[in-house]
Amino acid sequence: MDQAERGTTGPRLGRRELIGQGLLLGSLLLVGCGSRRNTVAARPPLPAAPAPAVFPAAPQPAPMPVETPGLVVMKRAQWTRSGIAPGVPIYDMNGVSRITVHHDGMPPVALRGEQETARRIESIRASHVNARGWADIGYHYVIDPAGRVWEGRPSWKQGAHVKDQNEHNIGVLVLGNFDVQRPTPQALASLDQFLGALMQRHRVPLGRVYTHREIGQSACPGANLQQYMNQTRAGGGRLAMAASRGFRA
Ligand SMILES: [Zn+2]
Repeated sequence: MDQAERGTTGPRLGRRELIGQGLLLGSLLLVGCGSRRNTVAARPPLPAAPAPAVFPAAPQPAPMPVETPGLVVMKRAQWTRSGIAPGVPIYDMNGVSRITVHHDGMPPVALRGEQETARRIESIRASHVNARGWADIGYHYVIDPAGRVWEGRPSWKQGAHVKDQNEHNIGVLVLGNFDVQRPTPQALASLDQFLGALMQRHRVPLGRVYTHREIGQSACPGANLQQYMNQTRAGGGRLAMAASRGFRA
């Protein structure tokens, strides 16, 4: 698995069971950014890890809001009624020191409205929970083609988006397959603004804003979004300029 959730010990389904339950197709199509050839591979042994907190955990302090003036941020309740899967271990984030950008890598679809987008995000969550046995959708935030930002996994919980690199790492998914399509200007504007807000909120330097392929074995986030991320972080790029101004302007 490309982004195995460290320490997950929840129930797993074998390939035969997946086929039997009609879930194999879903696991192939709705996996998020994991490379497709790995989606039915055997899960590698999980490293030894300290006992994680199991949901429901002790009450967590409310997360500090990310300052996002002008951005439309959709609450989790606007796309799912599900919380973190009960009984599946999930780690606390314990601080953020880096950010990683992803695409979904799935067959492209036109997402025309909030309802359609909500269903798409819910399908990714269901695939991560039901087919991969994870506690929740792997990503912390999702950006859609209209430039809306959607809350995913709670930001105070460790994500499941880059194999062995999830510690202190916020995962931001841009919906689309950017090996075969280009991100919309609205999505890119929101991505830059939102990354800037996350960087400011968590004091993450520009050099700690990554794409999936830069810290893991993956083609994610696709050639076109990778090209944009190279550009926006380089000298004179929009994110680099914002970072150099301290995100005040
Ligand atoms: Zn990815």
